[in-house]
Amino acid sequence: MRPPVNQTTTAPSPARSALKDRFGRTINYLRISLTDHCNLRCVYCMPLKGLTFAPSAELLQADEIETVVRAAVSVGFHKFRLTGGEPTLRADIVDITRRISAVEGVLDLAMTTNAILLPRLARPLKEAGMRRLNIHVDTLDPERVKRLMRFSSMDEIEAGIQAAEDAGFAPIKLNCVVTRDFNELDVVELVRRAVDRDWHVRFIELMPLGHGEPSRVALSNYVPTKETRGRIEEAFGPLLPFSAADAADESRNFRFEHGRGVVGFISPVSEPYCGGCNRMRLTADGRFHLCLLNDDEMDVKKAIRGGGGIEAVAAILGRAVSAKPTGHRLNEGLSTEERSMFQIGG
Ligand code: SAM
Repeated sequence: MRPPVNQTTTAPSPARSALKDRFGRTINYLRISLTDHCNLRCVYCMPLKGLTFAPSAELLQADEIETVVRAAVSVGFHKFRLTGGEPTLRADIVDITRRISAVEGVLDLAMTTNAILLPRLARPLKEAGMRRLNIHVDTLDPERVKRLMRFSSMDEIEAGIQAAEDAGFAPIKLNCVVTRDFNELDVVELVRRAVDRDWHVRFIELMPLGHGEPSRVALSNYVPTKETRGRIEEAFGPLLPFSAADAADESRNFRFEHGRGVVGFISPVSEPYCGGCNRMRLTADGRFHLCLLNDDEMDVKKAIRGGGGIEAVAAILGRAVSAKPTGHRLNEGLSTEERSMFQIGG
């Protein structure tokens, strides 16, 4: 049995300066995937058949995740996001949230979710210290939800969004992956919903990851941001820059002169933002994944299960940051082949 995390070793005090990689980028944001399971099967992400999942014993446990977070904080990380697969499928999601939010030096803790389990979880997550939620919804049309996200219904997603609002998560941030022949026209209704309320809606370009049907869909059904933006401006008028450009923010944000909501575009293919990347990823099976769209990884679970504590993990994280690639090479037709998005975390 492993000792509880705070007995493995004393946590070094938070580093004064954050880690920089070989290209001078400050890396201070860790996205933690909790599982490769999902309760949806979005056409561009997970196939309906032929899936294999990591056995539960291979997934990092709550105390191991806490060790990684403490190590990350000790080398200057302060921003954390839970993702998956679908992170709310972890039975210990509230415990994990509580553990991470209690770590001194964690300034921001957010989660990306499809919202389906939020009616049960939104309040406990808020009470456990979750600060922000990004909710994935590709369309507001019930028929197209069934076609694109497959195992879900619009009613379930609406109930999840409502639960997030009721629990006090604000602003509501929606993520929509734009997929030709599935939802490229639905961006207008999503924007209408956002500007009527005080919501943020962000439109994401499809990225080809892994292999098989989802990666083929991502390649053949890709819609560039320029087209999506044009469609939105045609319906609502010109978009105005919302805030000063932040190089580390993957989303370029806008608003309308008379609307309340914010419209963002995440354009990894047409406008790569690798130069401002501040991210490291941790896979559910315990490896640092150095860049979303590359295969390079560094095992950290082995060190933890071999008795390594916070300092050992911090040393591996330091090596992972040093080895971070300069950026993706989608323009050369290269992407990650080993893993799909649900195995890395978006
Ligand atoms: N289950 C959660 C969710 O639905 O948001 C978190 C994990 S999911 C992998 C994170 C995000 O990645 C979702 O917004 C999803 O639509 C997006 N995504 C999945 N595959 C993608 C791809 N090939 N290109 C762009 N975004 C993708």
